[in-house]
Amino acid sequence: MPATDYTQPQARAVFLDRDDTLMRDIPYCRDPELVELLPGVRDGLLRLQQSGWLLFIVTNQSGIARGYCTHAEVRAVNSRLCQLLQPVKFTGVYYSPDSSEQHSTTRKPAPGMLLEAARTHNLHLPSCWMVGDRPTDVACGHNAGCRTIWIPRDPRDCSDPLPTHKATDFTQAVQIILSETA
Ligand SMILES: [Mg+2]
Repeated sequence: MPATDYTQPQARAVFLDRDDTLMRDIPYCRDPELVELLPGVRDGLLRLQQSGWLLFIVTNQSGIARGYCTHAEVRAVNSRLCQLLQPVKFTGVYYSPDSSEQHSTTRKPAPGMLLEAARTHNLHLPSCWMVGDRPTDVACGHNAGCRTIWIPRDPRDCSDPLPTHKATDFTQAVQIILSETA
């Protein structure tokens, strides 16, 4: 791991949930051929990248702990997703292999993946955003000290804690980030 250079100004990043935020959710997906991007995601990520945001994927993959898929299969799916999103570049892709039955510092809503990214890449977490479709994504961003955008699958759903913003789709989430930081 490269040493953090604290003489450099801290960077800002957008942390992105994977399943049902960037790609269609297929439970315990182990086949890269099944990866399907959601509408507006590639264009939205490009806009963020062009505006100087670092991009990270942070995803819970409890199928590993449950024995439904392997680390290699999850990495292959992640690689396919990144390939489909080119020329978008991710500074980091993190996944938690733990299940909800385990004590975990990385499984969302625990903030471990975001804190690790912040340490490694000298991120200023209060300037960062966490974007996801589940209340656990909102709680994870909150626990890391980030701002949060929730794109609920059902607009009647509730989140505790409340997100900084709620969006109807990925494109709107990107617009919020760009307008709040213009
Ligand atoms: Mg999700």
